[in-house]
Amino acid sequence: MSDDCLFCRIVAGEIPANIVHETAGTLAFRDIAPKAPVHALVITRTHHADMAALAAADPALAGELLGAAAETARVEGVEAGGYRLIFNSGPDSGQEVAHVHAHVLGGGPLGPMLCG
Ligand code: 5GP
Ligand code: ZN
Repeated sequence: MSDDCLFCRIVAGEIPANIVHETAGTLAFRDIAPKAPVHALVITRTHHADMAALAAADPALAGELLGAAAETARVEGVEAGGYRLIFNSGPDSGQEVAHVHAHVLGGGPLGPMLCG
């Protein structure tokens, strides 16, 4: 738990979130500013800055996060139609929250992978 980390505070229940899926090590909730009809974030309960840090520190939890992302897509109803997973990492990606999270995006055609 990092006191100044937004997603650690969501895990701790200090900031409300619309939770859609949970495992022992992960939590999935809807993004506050959705970029697609379905936009959920899947995070680890423990703090890791990004996917590389998580994979180095706890490979089993990295696998659990991927499974939870797939399950989040299923419960959010986009498994059949298809969806996109995004892990931002570092400044060039635009990562805003330095706590590893998968974006699960779907609910309609998502367009080209990168814009602009
Ligand atoms: P990043 O840019 O770090 O990959 O993504 C961070 C995401 O967190 C953004 O899509 C943003 O909309 C979302 N976000 C920021 N603050 C909150 C919040 O308080 N609650 C929720 N549910 N999502 C948030
Ligand atoms: Zn954190």
